[in-house]
Amino acid sequence: MKVMKFGGTSVGSPERMKNVASLVTESGEPTFVVLSAMSGTTNSLVEISDYLYKKNPEGANEVINNLERKYMQHAEELYSTDEMKQTTKEFLAGEFDYLRSFTKDLFTSFEEKSIVAQGEIMSTNMVVNYLKEQGVKAVLLNALDFMRTDKNAEPDPQYIKEKLQAILAATPESQIYITQGFICRNAYGEIDNLLRGGSDYTASLIGAAIPAEEIQIWTDIDGMHNNDPRVVEKTEAIRQLNFEEAAELAYFGAKILHPTCVQPAKYAGIPVRLKNTMAPAAEGTIIDNVLVRGKIKAVAAKDNITAIKIKSSRMLLATGFLRKVFEIFESYQTPIDMIATSEVGVSMSIDNSTHLNDIVNELKKYGTVTVDTDMCIICVVGDLDWSNLGFETLATEAMKSIPVRMISYGGSNYNISFLIKEADKQRALQNLSNVLFT
Ligand code: ADP
Ligand code: ASP
Ligand code: MG
Repeated sequence: MKVMKFGGTSVGSPERMKNVASLVTESGEPTFVVLSAMSGTTNSLVEISDYLYKKNPEGANEVINNLERKYMQHAEELYSTDEMKQTTKEFLAGEFDYLRSFTKDLFTSFEEKSIVAQGEIMSTNMVVNYLKEQGVKAVLLNALDFMRTDKNAEPDPQYIKEKLQAILAATPESQIYITQGFICRNAYGEIDNLLRGGSDYTASLIGAAIPAEEIQIWTDIDGMHNNDPRVVEKTEAIRQLNFEEAAELAYFGAKILHPTCVQPAKYAGIPVRLKNTMAPAAEGTIIDNVLVRGKIKAVAAKDNITAIKIKSSRMLLATGFLRKVFEIFESYQTPIDMIATSEVGVSMSIDNSTHLNDIVNELKKYGTVTVDTDMCIICVVGDLDWSNLGFETLATEAMKSIPVRMISYGGSNYNISFLIKEADKQRALQNLSNVLFT
């Protein structure tokens, strides 16, 4: 069986949904389909929740009404029979009534999770109804019955595997299974999710649980490009990436892949293929265990980074100084992305600045602290094993006109990272493309 995951744009219009239906039926092979919400829907559902937190039911109702109009129109265009139009519109009306029911009560994060879950519930029902109308036997599986996180809010692969395999065994023989990406239950059985963009993660977890032969992520671009296509001109699709390279790129900002998605596939040894729904014939990118030696593959950028430097004469020849510093970050559950040390100081970067003030106040006990905000990590990814000559020189050469706050190299065999001002990002990415890929 293969897993095919379609993102928001890929199910974003009646035409695109029809396209998904033909892509999943085309091969004739058993297929497990994971769908995102229609593009824009999760944002609207978050907007509704924000209005309700702010005790503004009128604002929430307006977004709900607009969304309902859009969905009803979509159903009108998607189906050809009056019967299926009617069935789907009744289902959607129930969904929007459910959303409206939250405008009357006390609002907590539990209600918010229930609201944002409805986007995937609607898209999967709509596609299944379309397949049924086309005479295709497709089975809709409810992700809330088998996707689960544990007490640390991490997916529970053992539970997912057991549940999913039991469900598949008990489900009538089918070629096509469809389920929702993103949504799950938490350790207490409540509705929860795998964070924004998390449908890729669902696909990978399901692929590992089945286990599938291949996990395909279908989106609106023909694979992983060698630089951010939203920022840089003339980027090109990369044919192949190693799991580690893909993980670095996803973590450092290549939005095509959710950062968490690589891990389950990697551990299960299942290749991940990135494909373009708008151009299915394009080769896309295959992510697997193969490492092509001596090549820089791609560049990515991660925004909203804060750099923190602590300078202390106490660090000189002292043991335990770094431990104290790290413990402060740990106690505020703030991961460190980059780090550089010198004899008397250490610089670190974080992307979650929720507890910045508390962290800085505690660090001040140990030395002088400097903070730089609006920074950006530029990550150059490929076979950067230290025995390869010249690659780090090439990357730094490309950055020669950009002020660099920090460099990290040698943490893994796969990347060299630069911390720069966000304002210099476009120029840095373009320079790197010019030097590394032309
Ligand atoms: P989906 O809704 O299908 O999950 P996303 O919007 O999450 O799609 O991801 C696809 C988008 O990722 C592309 O449209 C592209 O603009 C963006 N992107 C950012 N960096 C890269 C990259 N290096 N290669 C390909 N796409 C990238
Ligand atoms: N619909 C969710 C989001 O927009 C999950 C996803 O599409 O991956 O974040
Ligand atoms: Mg995505």
